[in-house]
Amino acid sequence: MRKPMIAGNWKMHLTRKEAGELASAIKKGLDPDLKHEVLLAPSFTNLETVKNIISDSKILLSAQNMCWEEKGAFTGEVSPLQLKDIGCDYVIIGHSERRKIFGETDETLNKKIKSALKNNLKVIFCIGETLEERENNQTYRILQTQIQNGLKEISKEDLSRIVIAYEPVWAIGTGKTATPEQAEDAHIFVRKEISRLYDTEASDNIRILYGGSVKAENIDELMAKPNIDGALVGGESLKADKFLRVIHYQKVLSK
Ligand code: PEP
Repeated sequence: MRKPMIAGNWKMHLTRKEAGELASAIKKGLDPDLKHEVLLAPSFTNLETVKNIISDSKILLSAQNMCWEEKGAFTGEVSPLQLKDIGCDYVIIGHSERRKIFGETDETLNKKIKSALKNNLKVIFCIGETLEERENNQTYRILQTQIQNGLKEISKEDLSRIVIAYEPVWAIGTGKTATPEQAEDAHIFVRKEISRLYDTEASDNIRILYGGSVKAENIDELMAKPNIDGALVGGESLKADKFLRVIHYQKVLSK
């Protein structure tokens, strides 16, 4: 059984005070019997504030990026050692904004994933096609390349500490969500690809989150799909009441 995960990516939003207030409100609203994972990914400067608030809860902490090096002359970067030291459980690697705006390549992302795992950080590895790629029927090819290159030389054992987030670029921050069928179809492809590169056990066990304009209004239909194991949520995770509804999606509420 794959344990679902609902993750909030706060991107470059919120001051420490605001991040603390939001984390407190989310913690307060959580069903204490919740069985799945909830994760918050604030900016680097807000990690410690959020960690202090969630440390007596089940909420997990994630950074949004990191350098592949552990220390040294890398001005402006943050290392896996520093993230571990501050209490991060996870790090998001390969978000499309990192790929597109900051020019991160499959090769650098692969280095980052290896370094995160070596330093005992779990990874949310993001993949996804642009609108142009989808319209040119290249979705599968792009996903295949990103998976193959991003997970190069990563063992099956290490793969168990990676969560994949399928985030079609055209759906991120645009209000355009992939239909549950489109998302499910891509997730099935990702699972097949993991099976081809590893084996069916790895493919059955890997968690695949959907990301791209997930909202309180569409989470239930997405989570109803068998291959969608959770969500990586941007905008909607900045509003406590909405994000709490996403966390407590229908399958959970009806139990
Ligand atoms: C994201 O940041 O990963 C994301 C999916 O953003 P949004 O939910 O705002 O589309």
